Amino acid sequence: MAKTTVRDVNVRGRRVFVRVDYNVPMEEKEGKIAITDATRIKETLPTLDLLVQGGAKIILASHLGRPKGKSEPTISLRPVAEKLADMLGRNVAFVDDCIGDKVEKTAGILQPGDILLLENLRFHPEEEANGPAFAEKLARPAEIYVNDAFGAAHRAHASTEGVPRVVRSRGGPCVAGLLMERELKFLGEELDRPAKPFVVIVGGAKVSDKIKVVNRLIEKADTIIIGGAMTYTFKLAQGFKVGKSLVERDKTDLALAALESAKKRGVQFLLPADNVIATPFDTGKVNKKGKPVFDLQNVRVLKEPNIPDDAEGFDIGPETARQYSEVILKAKTILWNGPMGMFEDPRFAEGTRAIAKVVAEATRKNGAKSILGGGDTVTAINIAGLGDQVTFMSTGGGASLEFLQGEVLPGVAALSDK
Ligand code: AMP
Repeated sequence: MAKTTVRDVNVRGRRVFVRVDYNVPMEEKEGKIAITDATRIKETLPTLDLLVQGGAKIILASHLGRPKGKSEPTISLRPVAEKLADMLGRNVAFVDDCIGDKVEKTAGILQPGDILLLENLRFHPEEEANGPAFAEKLARPAEIYVNDAFGAAHRAHASTEGVPRVVRSRGGPCVAGLLMERELKFLGEELDRPAKPFVVIVGGAKVSDKIKVVNRLIEKADTIIIGGAMTYTFKLAQGFKVGKSLVERDKTDLALAALESAKKRGVQFLLPADNVIATPFDTGKVNKKGKPVFDLQNVRVLKEPNIPDDAEGFDIGPETARQYSEVILKAKTILWNGPMGMFEDPRFAEGTRAIAKVVAEATRKNGAKSILGGGDTVTAINIAGLGDQVTFMSTGGGASLEFLQGEVLPGVAALSDK
């Protein structure tokens, strides 16, 4: 069911607690901490503009990094308050905690249109533990609750589940922000009744991470397209040789079940016809994480399905990209989650780049709706410079996967239905 949004409530003169996702990348430059990518801040501006225009007294709360429940000056949200003030062209107050007297006093003197940003929620261990006493304190100044942090909605934390519970128990509205509303619209409503043909492209490392999404979308899709290392678990399940490719040997039964279910429903299920492979040589060195470093030599296109014992598959080949493109160009709805190969290495990025190009083309020329899952897929389309040519890019990685799997996200369930 659709959720009530920030457009549906009268916020004038009321204190509105807004859960945002300001978990932005930062870097120390000349002794000062600088934000290296402000996209997440920018994405909350429509909601903030609406609240400012509506005369709300705005209290913003977010997590940043992983401070493990302790105060940690290097991951303070203070630089975000400065950045946000720059972007909005208005003052943003900051308090160095998210609960307590100082917060309540500052919240108490806010005027309509004023904005206060609280310190990193995760400086308190009770945020992630969803401690009821902490949620109660956090909710104290809130008359209305808004969640605009889709990327954190799959976690039942104090700021996503506890606070709305308290606000609701006092009769206060709990609503979606405009960014959250867009996520629910595109990942939810649009995919529930997709214009046909509906093509689902799933890539990435593991079958185990994505199989639930594949199974759920087999019920709606006309075609499922597979890429990335998860290809090799499917190939192994079909009896092909996969060499040294990344596989999950204990997941071949899941792969076969998905193939079987697609067949029963008449869903086209496409696996790569050719692959870009390489031969890994152990350098004897280890990386920062203590893992052995391999030198990938003799990068080549393999046209036949069996990968030699000493080689590893890292990308879809050109023939696969051509076949996939043909199908994608006929689509009216496209969902894409996960890269086609190990795209961080330019030698294995061509497959993902080709798919990014054709998804953008289908959107631009054919009017297809293209919806991209978060994380690597968004990175890949932005590297290709085509981010502005798709219909929607989700801001949630784990949250978008769980949502697409059909799971109820605690941070969404906490909001009132329309
Ligand atoms: P995921 O987080 O499941 O979407 O997986 C994305 C990661 O899978 C990226 O870091 C890719 O480099 C990696 N990946 C994709 N294809 C392959 C492959 N064939 N071999 C190894 N890693 C891959």
